[in-house]
Parts: sequence; C-alpha cells; structure tokens
Amino acid sequence: MSERSSLEMFRLKKLVEELQSKEGKATELISLYVPPGRQISDAMNNLREELGTSANIKSKSTKKNVQDAIESIMQRLKLFRAPPPNGLVIFCGAIPRGGPGTERMETYVIEPPEPISLYLYRCDARFYLDPIIDMLTVKEYYGIIVMDRSDATFAILKGKRVDIIETIYSGSPSKHDAGGQSARRFQRSVEIAAHEFYKRVSEHATEIFMPIIGNLKGLLIGGPGPTKDEFVEDKLLHYQLQEKILSVKDLSYTEEPGVYELIERSEEALKNVDFLKEKKLIQNFLYMLAKNPSGVTYGEKDVREKLEKNVVKTLILSSGIETIRIKYKCQACGSTKEGTFTKQNILAKGGREVCDKCGGTMLEEESKNIIEELAMLADKSNAKVEVISTDTDEGKMLLKSFGGIVAILRFASGN
Ligand SMILES: [Zn+2]
Repeated sequence: MSERSSLEMFRLKKLVEELQSKEGKATELISLYVPPGRQISDAMNNLREELGTSANIKSKSTKKNVQDAIESIMQRLKLFRAPPPNGLVIFCGAIPRGGPGTERMETYVIEPPEPISLYLYRCDARFYLDPIIDMLTVKEYYGIIVMDRSDATFAILKGKRVDIIETIYSGSPSKHDAGGQSARRFQRSVEIAAHEFYKRVSEHATEIFMPIIGNLKGLLIGGPGPTKDEFVEDKLLHYQLQEKILSVKDLSYTEEPGVYELIERSEEALKNVDFLKEKKLIQNFLYMLAKNPSGVTYGEKDVREKLEKNVVKTLILSSGIETIRIKYKCQACGSTKEGTFTKQNILAKGGREVCDKCGGTMLEEESKNIIEELAMLADKSNAKVEVISTDTDEGKMLLKSFGGIVAILRFASGN
C-alpha cells in the first residue's frame, strides 16, 4: 500500500468536511462504495437494478433526482475498467443551493486511502461517509503481543480500534507434571517448552504482522512476569518485527484484558511515534533558522516570493491556517487584484471590494484556501509539501510564531 502524502490526507479531510455539510431535499443523495476486488460490471448491474426500483418513488422530483444521480454515477463508472487498488467511492446527488428548484447535481469520485472491504449502495438525505472518516482517523497500525508463560494474545491497534486476532497456549509443563522427575530434569523440560513456545509466538507474529508490515508503525509487547522480557531478549522475532518494538511493559493481566492494559500503558510511546515525523520537520526548520537562516524563510509573503522564484525545497504548512486567497475582478474596467483574507475580513466587507483604478465594484473571481493555493504554487516548482497538525508543541509553534507557513530552500547556503 502506498502511503498518502500529508497534503493528500489534508485535502481528503477537507472534502469530507464539505460533504458532511451537504443535505438533500429528500432521500436522494447516493453513496456508492466499490471494493477493489469487485468487477465494475457487477456494480453497473446493481445500479441498473436500483434504477429500476427507483421507478416506484412517489415524489416526482425525488424520482428524477435519484435517477439522474444513478445515471451520472454509471457514466463515471464507465471510465474505469477495474476499480483502483483501494477501490472506488462515488457520492452523487442534487444539492439545494437556496430555495426550491435550486438544486444542482454534484458528483465526487474518491480513491480511498485504504482498501474498501464492503460493497455498499446507499440512498439517503445525506452522504454516507463513515467508512472514509474511519480511514482518515486510522493512520497507523500497531502490532500487539501480550504474553506470559502459559499463553500469548495477538492484536492489531488501528487508530482507536483494537482487533484481537488470536490467543495461543503454551501447554508448558506445570508443577503437577513434575511427577517423579528430578528437579533438574523438570527445570530442563520447562526451559525447552518455553523455547518452543517462543518460537511458536514468533511464527504467529510473522503470519499476523508481516502482511501489514508497510503500515505497521510499531510493536508493543507486554505481560506479567519475566516471560516477555526473555522472549524479546531471545530475538526470535523476524528481524523486521524486532526492529519495530516500541515498548515492553509489565502488566497485571494476560489475554484480552492485557491487550487493553498494554495500550493504556503505551499511550506516551504511541503519541510520540504518531507525531515524531511532524516534530522532526519543525525541529529541523528551527535548527536551520538558527544555524543557517539564509536556507529558510517564513511568513506568507516571503514564502510566496520564494515559491515563485522556484527555490523552495520543502513547503511546511500548518493545518490550522484558515485564511483564504481571493482574486477579484472589476466589473467596470476589468482590472484584477489578489489578496489573503480571514473569514472575519470577508464577512466585514460583505463580499464587496472597490476597484483601486476606477472605483467600480469588484467581484470574486476565484477563492481558495491558502493551503491549497500555496500547495499549487509548490507543485509548479516541484517543491515538497508537508501539512502539519497543531497537535504537537512544534505544530502549535509553527502556527503561532510563523503564521503557519515556512519553507526550507533548495540552496541552503544562500544564493
Ligand atoms: Zn475598475
């Protein structure tokens, strides 16, 4: 699975927010989820059936809107020979712009960041977004092993969801099995059994975690007693899994309760990994600012200038920026001007802008979130774009101290 860039994820989040706010006049907005394994022709057949069923809708306008939406989706589907690697999501419906009769058909085609697991067709007053929202919150997976002498439980943490995969038992000899054996022989058989058990745990770990190694951000291991420490020290895990061990914790419980206890106790470790990349980016910028200030720049005006000169290597933006870039055009003389505004600015102006040249009324020609606008500029010069959350101290500082806009330049030694 290819990892999406922070910019792509930001765009998807914004789009989902927008779609959440849309509401149909009636039950007439369609959501379609096509999993990667599904044939397009299957989906087309299903839509044809739905088109047939929709003939029974009583309200004339609802019937027309539903049928138009289904047909529009079918048009879009025809463009695909097979679903993309993660499947396909289409939202389509008539969205009212104001009073009655103002609806316009809107269609959104999304390639989701993770594979879709279920085929789904839904017609409702709102778009059905839960599976996508779920994907947006699930950024990373963590493997979990909770073990002691007698059993091992495997689980996967996906965002905030925990999937318990399985529990295996060691069948390790207990004191009852000692029978007539000498203490030494019994001790020896316990050690052999433990080693066999560790090997089995490693094999199960490979089976469970290696298929998702690309998305696996770390491995958490825990359990009561010294068993898990011995297991980690023995290095029997696949080396790629061994490298991912984030923390080893002492627990009071085993099996499922142990899994939840381990997650709770690993909160700090989890948070750090989640945000490590973001923290590092900002720390790197701050380091350069101190040691080599000509290699960086910040603030919208200076960064825009450097972007236009094609000298930006990495553009770092805060997801907390809320300003909007607007292009105005004069209705009388045709001259244009551009500016960056906050939402309050725009409300205060009441959407009106006066032409500097002739005093005529200027109308909005284009408006874009500043993040989108700068990202497009960056794209033109092949600069890398990173969108950083405000969840870390560094992320907050990016927004507060630098206006949420900084850049690392290509020629770090100045030009
Ligand atoms: Zn004018």
